[in-house]
Amino acid sequence: MARRKLVAGNWKMHGIALDLGEVSAISRAADKADVDVALCLPATLIERAVRNSPGFAIGGQDVHHADKGAHTGCISAAMLIDAGARLTIVGHSERREAQGESDADVRAKAEAALVAGLDVILCIGESDAIREAGEAVPTVSAQLDASLPAAIGEPSRFSVAYEPIWAIGTGKVPSTQDIAEMHAALRGRLNAAFGEAGSQVRILYGGSVKASNAAEIFAVPDVDGALVGGASLKASDFLPIVEAAAG
Ligand code: PEP
Repeated sequence: MARRKLVAGNWKMHGIALDLGEVSAISRAADKADVDVALCLPATLIERAVRNSPGFAIGGQDVHHADKGAHTGCISAAMLIDAGARLTIVGHSERREAQGESDADVRAKAEAALVAGLDVILCIGESDAIREAGEAVPTVSAQLDASLPAAIGEPSRFSVAYEPIWAIGTGKVPSTQDIAEMHAALRGRLNAAFGEAGSQVRILYGGSVKASNAAEIFAVPDVDGALVGGASLKASDFLPIVEAAAG
């Protein structure tokens, strides 16, 4: 079965009420697109965005592995669902680096989110030093193995985002050969972990995707969509990427 492409935006720590018009514009166009589209927003905007754009997939950017408890500043899967979110990112490299999240933490978050009913986008990717050392494929493969939840259930609910750290927000993008090599390796790991279901998991590419490079990236085998940071903040930047994914 062909995998339907997914283009997800990650707003990071950007966006206040004034920016909700961009979400509405994106959701209106996404409704007509022949691909899945989602926006992972700051937690403060989720409920209002869902109210403004019912039916559109709004997500969070992180989730705690616990249901509730003494975890100041954190957000649980139940809270995201209560706000109307349908999905969450876990393991973004900015959290792995700044918050010291380990593969085991990421695995626990992914498991908690899936069990609670959120779809998950699990991020992995190598540093430039690892890429320069020629170790990108084994390093990211091992990171995936160690971060994967024990079970994924319906495979369309779980996606992996390969995001080379050195490509995030830098304007640098790996060659299409390097993306293809990595995605093929990750597909092999997913098949090994989940069998037939692993072949249905979407593998997104993330890192400086924009309108000018999206079509080339989406044409790479085993690229099933994109996780987009900076270019997801404005409908005028994001929608051409969605169109490129639709082919
Ligand atoms: C990201 O942070 O997930 C990302 C891909 O950012 P950008 O598109 O800005 O490189």
